[in-house]
Amino acid sequence: MPISRRKFLVSGTSILGSSLMGCVGISLSQKVFDSHCHIIDPRYPIIENQGYIPPPYTLNDYRQQTVPLGVSSGAIVSGSFHGFDQSYLKATLAILGPQWVGVTQVPNSITDQEVLELTNLRVRALRFNIFRGRVDSVDEIVSFANRVHQVGNWHAEIYADAAALAPHVAKLSKLPKIVIDHLGMTEKGLPVLLDLVDAGACVKATGFGRVNMNVPKMLEAVARHSPNALVFGTDLPSTRAKRPFDVSDITLIKDVLGKSLSDLVFWNNPRNLYRLVV
Ligand SMILES: [Zn+2]
Repeated sequence: MPISRRKFLVSGTSILGSSLMGCVGISLSQKVFDSHCHIIDPRYPIIENQGYIPPPYTLNDYRQQTVPLGVSSGAIVSGSFHGFDQSYLKATLAILGPQWVGVTQVPNSITDQEVLELTNLRVRALRFNIFRGRVDSVDEIVSFANRVHQVGNWHAEIYADAAALAPHVAKLSKLPKIVIDHLGMTEKGLPVLLDLVDAGACVKATGFGRVNMNVPKMLEAVARHSPNALVFGTDLPSTRAKRPFDVSDITLIKDVLGKSLSDLVFWNNPRNLYRLVV
């Protein structure tokens, strides 16, 4: 049931603060899982990447922006600027509680015991940033992804131009579970994305302000191949995107996919992917 702005103001002023203006017209009846957001907390290590250090974006900042959108669960994703630091992630997941999970970056040298320790703190996936930052060979990615899956049941999340993955589809398809970030970044990558979806991959409907594609066309194509593949995320704070996440990105998904598919994309699909009870 849509909530009126008046009711919204009365019930939520203290939590929502100045972010209210951006949220008019959003229905709070929608349960939203944010499968991709970053917390940049200056109390923990942040490393420079290609000369860039992102501005802080604290858990408080994130909550102010997303509680009004109905976000009640999600995945905190380590960015290139976090390197292999786990301290911010451990602290953030401890505050957020059991409806939140982590996607992290770790070195190949991590022990099985350390993987298990992170698993116990609700880390659910390993991120490979092939687009920016760390570059591993696909064979290394496959063997590392298989190991963390065996040890901690983690899946692999890949940030890449899907077009660049074309020669590697057969190998990547054999992984127990992979997720491609930001709709695969380019429209040229669509055939590769669909091959991976046919093999069981999930695709993040995120980062519309950083991709180079016709977003509605991509959303439709992926959803047509599998209603269970797309998972919504804000990608907040949208570091280095051409334009940041906007509430209209949510509206776009709803308009393109319709209610029943959107319900899967905003809740059931990501809850299944991150192994939380739907
Ligand atoms: Zn991101």
